[in-house]
Amino acid sequence: MMDDPIQIAAKDLANTQKVVALTGAGISVESGIPPFRGKGGLWEKFDPMEYAHINAFMKNPAKVWNVLIKEMKEIIDKAKPNDAHKGLARLEDLGILTTIITQNVDGLHQVAGNTDVIEFHGNFAWQRCLDCGSRCETAKIDVTRIPPRCECGGIYRPDCIFFGEMIPPQHLYRSEKVASNCNIMLVVGTSARIQPAASIPVMAKQAGAKVIEINTERTPLSEKISDYIILGKAGEVIKRLTAEIERLKNLNPI
Ligand code: NAD
Ligand code: ZN
Repeated sequence: MMDDPIQIAAKDLANTQKVVALTGAGISVESGIPPFRGKGGLWEKFDPMEYAHINAFMKNPAKVWNVLIKEMKEIIDKAKPNDAHKGLARLEDLGILTTIITQNVDGLHQVAGNTDVIEFHGNFAWQRCLDCGSRCETAKIDVTRIPPRCECGGIYRPDCIFFGEMIPPQHLYRSEKVASNCNIMLVVGTSARIQPAASIPVMAKQAGAKVIEINTERTPLSEKISDYIILGKAGEVIKRLTAEIERLKNLNPI
């Protein structure tokens, strides 16, 4: 049975520490949040340059609020962590996983219970006033007035980055640091096409880590960088994986 990649991964992970996960939109698909690319992706509906570029927002905040941000708010307000988020939280409890680097802006890793989450692209759970910089939870924003405004009169923008904006350097720096210091990197649900996120597993590999991918399909990493890929839905795969790790460690699942 050892050619089952889930069993191989469970063995690799069970006796390791300093595991880091890099996650992308695919990990939240089973929570009802569509990815950007591919089937059912947001970019089938919206032209990113028209709605998700910082210049588009600054030119016409009401238009971007009305179309993209309101829709994302509705989707994210309803979303709950799935078995993949919960499994990664369990791996932290077990002392195996230390840090998650995520490209997602949905905040579901923190809801699931992970305590060290580097949000590469920021967080959609918060809005920031363009004028005074004060923050407000997205769930509490009144969307009957578009664009929503802060008490000071300034317009709110999501506290995540738009296309055309820089990744906060402190996030990039810390991601590179944890990636070059981990024993195993789990790469879950990312198409690995967007830089600089795509180079994080390369860095881990060069520093000697094993790279294990979980995705419904192969990616550009699968050929040269990943040691192996577990093909399947993140929630199903990670649920089986954590159960197998618990079995190897003689623990009862919770
Ligand atoms: P992507 O849309 O480019 O790729 C998604 C990947 O997930 C694909 O490789 C696909 O094969 C895989 N996938 C789809 N369903 C899966 C499942 N059930 N289990 C496992 N894998 C699955 O997303 P990306 O690589 O994260 O990069 C694009 C950008 O998308 C990021 O910049 C991120 O900020 C943004 N984004 C975030 C969210 C979110 O916060 N949930 C949602 C959409 C997009
Ligand atoms: Zn303000």
